[in-house]
Amino acid sequence: MQEQPVIDLEAEKKEILKRYKALLRACKRTLEKGDKLLIRKAFDISLEAHKDMRRKSGEPYIYHPIAVAHICAEEIGLGTTSVVCALLHDVVEDTDLTIDDIKRLFGEKEAKIIDGLTKISGVFDQSSSLQAENFRKMLLTLSDDVRVILIKLADRLHNMRTLESMKRDKQLKIASETLYLYAPLAHRLGLNAIKTELEDLGLKYTEPEVYEDIQKRLKEGEPERKKFISKFIEPIKEILAEQGLKAKIIGRPKSIFSINNKIKTKGVPFEEIFDLFAIRIIIDTEAEKEKSDCWRVYSIVTDFYHPSPERLRDWISTPKANGYESLHTTVMGPEGKWVEVQIRTVRMDELAEKGYAAHWKYKDSANESQLDDWIRKIREILENPQENALEFLDDFKLNLFAEEIFAFTPKGEMKTLPINATALDFAFDIHTKVGEKCIGAKVNHKLVPLSYKLKSGDQIEILTSSKQTPKEDWLGYVVTARAKSKIKNALKEERRKIAEDGREMLERKFNHLKIDFTVQNINELANYFKLPSSQELFYRVAVGNIDLKHLKNFRQEHGKIIHKTGEIAKKADQHKSLEQIVSETRGKSDMLVIGENLQKIDYKLSPCCNPIPGDDVFGFITINEGIKIHRVNCPNALQLLANYAYRVVKAKWTSQELISFLAGIKITGIDELGLVNNITKLISNELNVNMRSISFDTNDGTFEGTIMVFVHDTNHLTELMKKLKKVNGVLSVTRLDNN
Ligand code: MN
Repeated sequence: MQEQPVIDLEAEKKEILKRYKALLRACKRTLEKGDKLLIRKAFDISLEAHKDMRRKSGEPYIYHPIAVAHICAEEIGLGTTSVVCALLHDVVEDTDLTIDDIKRLFGEKEAKIIDGLTKISGVFDQSSSLQAENFRKMLLTLSDDVRVILIKLADRLHNMRTLESMKRDKQLKIASETLYLYAPLAHRLGLNAIKTELEDLGLKYTEPEVYEDIQKRLKEGEPERKKFISKFIEPIKEILAEQGLKAKIIGRPKSIFSINNKIKTKGVPFEEIFDLFAIRIIIDTEAEKEKSDCWRVYSIVTDFYHPSPERLRDWISTPKANGYESLHTTVMGPEGKWVEVQIRTVRMDELAEKGYAAHWKYKDSANESQLDDWIRKIREILENPQENALEFLDDFKLNLFAEEIFAFTPKGEMKTLPINATALDFAFDIHTKVGEKCIGAKVNHKLVPLSYKLKSGDQIEILTSSKQTPKEDWLGYVVTARAKSKIKNALKEERRKIAEDGREMLERKFNHLKIDFTVQNINELANYFKLPSSQELFYRVAVGNIDLKHLKNFRQEHGKIIHKTGEIAKKADQHKSLEQIVSETRGKSDMLVIGENLQKIDYKLSPCCNPIPGDDVFGFITINEGIKIHRVNCPNALQLLANYAYRVVKAKWTSQELISFLAGIKITGIDELGLVNNITKLISNELNVNMRSISFDTNDGTFEGTIMVFVHDTNHLTELMKKLKKVNGVLSVTRLDNN
């Protein structure tokens, strides 16, 4: 809706009511006596509380809570309590209403959920980020009530759907957060439909050109795909009907995000991705016949099309930990094309799309325990809060997207673990004490080290010793968040004890030199050694990592130590806080223009993604190295944008002067005589580009090469890559993200 000079309030009122009525219709399935009144009450309060507020688009603010409630009811399948909380989710944060008001007006449960949905406000400290703290707070509520996360996901989904009206830097921040945390979270809770939409929207705003390109190509191929799909399903449909199986068959396009992922990770161009869609067969059958009927359908499909022996996945006998159940196979379809076929029941399909919320509907389902099991584990991690929210988040995130394996205890109990989990992860999964005392394991009766990577079907017996304690290098052996946090806690406890000793040692030394053992003096010394905390100083003193002879270079004045050479004054200056650096940098300019050093801002092109002019970039304020320029699609960008938005500065390239920038290119092809020679000749002679390095690996007639070249901008690079593609024998030419 365009912002208009005169707002038609009457029309708006009508529209609000219309949207509210649509919400009620979406709630109909779950409405019980009295529910309608509750929803009306929440709506009236929200409408009144937000009455003078508008969204960035100019629309009345109330559209947003109504939409979030609508998503909760219709797309996630939540009940009245959630709808009420969704309608009120922003009132405590944005208006004068308090949590106590909510408690009085609705109840304890509602107040708790809304508290979980309200952001923490306050100052950020150097080592963490407010964003990460907020994520942690939200996740903490997971153990109380999963609905908080589900409503938060609905909130995020609506914000992503309406991101268009935001400024570019806001879009980037919100979209990065979404890809970094919310989409994985939706995945882990089994909300496939929402996860897919969040990912696609995330890509749309982080890499708009890539998104639009794939979207366009998908659209172009659509008529042909449709024809192919109907040809594929025709014979199957007939037999299904003949055998009296009620089934719905659909051809489902893969998401733009997943297609882009394939292009990126496999290095294949769009044209060569065969699975742009999957065929899904959803059968309507009785509970007892689910499994056998799915296999019946499998049998029918493979009567017509030959299955690939490596591509059969049975997630019906062993559902994924997020509750997903389905039978997947890839078969050779018409025209010699591989086609993925997913076979499932109506119940399984609803679970796959709506996830956790749908589980309540099928309470006796065996998978409920799988998700509950996951939540139980998360709860345990959360009960041991680490000081650093970012660290916590990284560990937590690790476990959101992992593929899974399953392994067995000696008694035959099944455990689901992420892929690459080791014997040590397994030990911690059984019990913290078992993990801490673990010295090795027997896998399928054979002795293996702690670092042994488990395979699906392994049976594991953990060996323990009462003498064992967790070691620093164990952190390198484990992949589960649970094991990581348990080991870190044990190590921190150990470190704390050692630091205690160090503190006593330092106090004796101070006494000996007649220096007052004050907090101020301790901090001065920690500063001098560039250590983040006194705890760290004590620890290093205890392990002998710090030479206390330096203390001789200090003198004491009025109880305060000062470095004799005056160096301390300079040091203190260097020790500006991050907040100071951020505000000073921001004060200089709003937009960093790269290549034009008028603003006297210290910047560097980040080596992790080697940005060149023409790339979409942003600046990131660092403590010691000025501003670092990253590409928006840098492998580290999501993490930085999601967690440290306040340190991000807008940046663009100057159009003047020809400077050269380093970029990496990967080339693959068929190893032909003289090929390398042809490539280097082309680069240096014809195109006049400077090469910094070139390396080629050949293997059974194919080669893979990496070339580092100096180019002026993206146009220059694209031109070079185009020419390289035309060299005989070259199959693919791609730009390296990092090197
Ligand atoms: Mn909101």
